[in-house]
Amino acid sequence: MDLRRRVAERAGHCCEYCRIPQAWTSVPFQLDHVIAEKHEGETSFANLAYACLHCNSFKAPNIAGHDADTGEIVRLFNPRHDNWSDHFEWNGALVMARTAIGRVTVAVLRINLPYRVAVRASLIEEGLLRRF
Ligand SMILES: [Zn+2]
Repeated sequence: MDLRRRVAERAGHCCEYCRIPQAWTSVPFQLDHVIAEKHEGETSFANLAYACLHCNSFKAPNIAGHDADTGEIVRLFNPRHDNWSDHFEWNGALVMARTAIGRVTVAVLRINLPYRVAVRASLIEEGLLRRF
């Protein structure tokens, strides 16, 4: 099985950051280098995440962000080592941070931009977005 398919299956065909399902988006998902190639991250199963266009584009080569609450530089959520629900929780269609890592990830990846929340709200209403 090719690498892209293995990464997609491991992710349940959902973005590993914002949890939107690939099936209900028009643009194919991308393979995100959790540790970007710029930072010597490898193109390997262990360093790839399944990501929607928005999350991957906003994340770009970032591996950390500025936490506006504390002024600290905090690493981003790492889907290969972190559990999503340890760092995020749902509030309707909003992805809320539970930790500093969650806070900077929501901010850097712009996960709660209004148009993105609106899409998730529609999917939730139609029962097409799994929240856990
Ligand atoms: Zn996403």
